Amino acid sequence: NQRFVLASRPVGAPTAENFRLEEAAIPALGNQDVLIENHHLSIDPYMRGRMSDAKSYAEPVAIDGLMVGATVGKVLESNHADYQAGDWVLAYKGWETHSVVDGDTLLKLNPDLAPVSYALGILGMPGFTAYMGLLDIGQPKEGDTLVVAAATGPVGATVAQIGKLKGCRVVAIAGGEDKCQYAREHLSVDACIDHKADNFAEQLADACPQGIDVYFENVGGKVFDAVMPLLNTGARIPVCGLVSQYNNTALPEGPDRLSQLMGTILVKRLTVKGFIIFDDYAHRYPEFAHDMAKWVGEGQIHYREHAVDGFEQAPQALIDVLEGRNFGKMVVNIK
Ligand code: NDP
Repeated sequence: NQRFVLASRPVGAPTAENFRLEEAAIPALGNQDVLIENHHLSIDPYMRGRMSDAKSYAEPVAIDGLMVGATVGKVLESNHADYQAGDWVLAYKGWETHSVVDGDTLLKLNPDLAPVSYALGILGMPGFTAYMGLLDIGQPKEGDTLVVAAATGPVGATVAQIGKLKGCRVVAIAGGEDKCQYAREHLSVDACIDHKADNFAEQLADACPQGIDVYFENVGGKVFDAVMPLLNTGARIPVCGLVSQYNNTALPEGPDRLSQLMGTILVKRLTVKGFIIFDDYAHRYPEFAHDMAKWVGEGQIHYREHAVDGFEQAPQALIDVLEGRNFGKMVVNIK
C-alpha cells in the first residue's frame, strides 16, 4: 500500500515538500471491514484547508497523518454482508492505493449507470454542492441573471447548467479563452468572461445589462469586487467557496471594502448564506441523486474530467487545482 501523508503545513501555495509518499502494510480486516483497491482519487480545493491548522469546520490533517480524500475503487476482500469482491465503491478515507474501511461507511456504485469516477464529481460531492447551493439558497427564477465563476470546474459547470435548466440568463466566468469557449459551446451559457482580461469588470458589466440576481460564490477576490456593484435588490449569494484566497498569507492589498459590502447587503437587501454541503444538506442527498442521474442520463448536463495518470501525481494535481490549471474535475487515476 502506498500513501501520501502531510509532511509539513504549507505557507501560501502548497509545494511537493508538504507531502511524503510512504509504503505501509495493509492492516488485517476486522469484522465488517472491506479491503478496497483504489482506482480514482478525487482532488478538491477543500484539501488545502485540511493542510492548515487554522480553525475551520473540519479537523486538520495531522502532521504525518494520511491526506484525506474520496476514492473510487474495487472491493478485493470483504467481511461485510453488503459487499463482495468485484463491487465498485466510493470511500472517504484518503490518498492511498488501498483502503481498509468499515463497510457501513461505503457507497456502492453501479458501473452500468455512468463511469464510476463520476461519483467523485457530477454524481457526488461537487454535483451535490452545486445543486443544493443553487436551488436552495440561490432560488433561481426564470429570467434571472445568474453569475458563476470557476465555471468549467465540477461545481461551477453544474451550477451554470442547472441555471440554464431553470431558465436563467447565465454568465460564466473562467480563466482563459479555452475555458470560456468550452463554457459557451458545451455548457450553453449566454456569455463567458475571462477573469484574467484587463477589462474584466467592464466586460462583466456589459454581459449583465439587467444586473445580477444570483451570484454563486466560488472564488472571491477580484471576481467578487466586480460582481458587487452589479447586484440587484433582493439578490441571493450562496457562499460556496473562496478558492482565490486559499493560498493567501495576508489580507489583500487596497482599501478596506467591508463597510461598502455591508452597505450593499443593507441597501440591496441581499441574502448572503454560506453552507457546508454534507453538514447542512445530507438529508437531501436522495433528491439530488435522483435528479442528477436523470439529467446526466438524458444528456442535459455535460461533465468534463481532468484526469492525470499515476498516484505519485496527486500533490501536483492539488497544487494545480488551486492555481486554476485544471480544466474540469481533477481526478488522479491510480490504476
Ligand atoms: P474547481 O475544479 O473549479 O477548481 C478551482 C477553480 O477555481 C480553478 O480551476 C480556477 O478556475 C478557479 N480559480 C482558482 N484561483 C482563482 C482565482 N484567483 N480567481 C478566480 N478563479 C480562480 O473546483 P470545485 O468545482 O471543486 O470547487 C469550486 C468551489 O466550491 C471551491 O471554492 C470549493 O472550495 C467550493 N466547494 C465548497 C463546498 C461546500 O460545501 N461549501 C463543497 C465543494 C466545493 P479558472 O481557471 O476558471 O479561474
